Amino acid sequence: MILVTGGAGFIGANFVLDWVSVVGEPVVNLDKLTYAGNLETLSSLNGDSRHLFVHGDICDRALVEELLATHRPRAIVHFAAESHVDRSIHGPGDFVRTNIEGTFTLLEAARGYWSALDADAKSAFRFLHVSTDEVYGSLGAGDPAFTEQHPFEPNSPYSASKAASDHLVRAWHHTYGLPVVTTNCSNNYGPYHFPEKLIPLMITNALAGKPLPVYGDGMQIRDWLYVKDHCSAIRRVLEAGRLGETYNVGGWNEKPNIEIVHTICSLLDELKPDPAGSYRRLVTHVADRPGHDRRYAIDARKLERELGWKPAETFETGIRKTVEWYLANNQWVANVQSGAYRDWISKNYEAR
Ligand code: NAD
Repeated sequence: MILVTGGAGFIGANFVLDWVSVVGEPVVNLDKLTYAGNLETLSSLNGDSRHLFVHGDICDRALVEELLATHRPRAIVHFAAESHVDRSIHGPGDFVRTNIEGTFTLLEAARGYWSALDADAKSAFRFLHVSTDEVYGSLGAGDPAFTEQHPFEPNSPYSASKAASDHLVRAWHHTYGLPVVTTNCSNNYGPYHFPEKLIPLMITNALAGKPLPVYGDGMQIRDWLYVKDHCSAIRRVLEAGRLGETYNVGGWNEKPNIEIVHTICSLLDELKPDPAGSYRRLVTHVADRPGHDRRYAIDARKLERELGWKPAETFETGIRKTVEWYLANNQWVANVQSGAYRDWISKNYEAR
């Protein structure tokens, strides 16, 4: 049994689906179901005794302690977070609460649970903290990719809150001996991605004939990894990662945002031709966001060398699979594009 937090979100849900089908071990999934949590993603597990969903907050210490005492997990895989940079600019409070206080609460509950385990269970236990490359800050054009030794230089409330949580996790290992491992991954894309993030936003807007909003000149560079490859990396680190270590996860796929948008337009032009010509006509440059990092690039050689992990997808195969998934799952998209999401998206994109 493992305890997953945030397993109804984009990466967490992909991880739970993969875990149940690849490993087959039961999962307790604790998620608050914020706007980003969607149980529909996990509907294929309805009635499957290997998935127990618990609707709750990682800041609720009593609940976390009760789940640990009842289910006796051998590991905690911690995804739950507020994760959207734009939202963190407009409302940083939730990011401080969930990402920092929530991680602190989990660490404290885990510490109490772990310290009372018998010797074998104690040495087998793992707390895996899922984090981001954004904690490292921004790179210049010629700088080498981030290694695990790169100093933390977070620039947004989101990345600052994740950096703080990474530091807490590190400290709980050094101070209390809690068996932790941390992963810092580049930008993920793939199925079930909430359509406020770049790739699903572009696909869904293009299909709806809406503008494709590109921040500034679109030359911000991000490093992309197909979400299933992130899931396989987490499984590998959980299995064999060295305690107290951090592992960068990435697929060596640096791309400027505008190139991503053009690639999506070309794939859609091929798979579902635009009645008005090409989807590229919808590209609309909008004001850049404050403090927008220019470039992220992740050096994943430690994970490749030490643990033998490799991504299964190239960017070309992964983005094609993703566009095909959105074309085949328009009902999932329609269902998440409602209520709070719609209000937020109109406030932030139509106001520009
Ligand atoms: P997401 O926003 O899609 O999902 C987050 C999930 O956490 C949602 O299901 C939400 O309901 C849940 N949640 C939020 N606050 C909670 C709380 N207080 N208690 C319990 N559950 C809560 O995020 P994601 O993109 O799936 O990211 C998951 C993790 O991976 C995050 O920690 C993020 O920092 C990290 N990460 C994301 C990316 C990326 O490209 N998306 C890259 C690297 C690392």
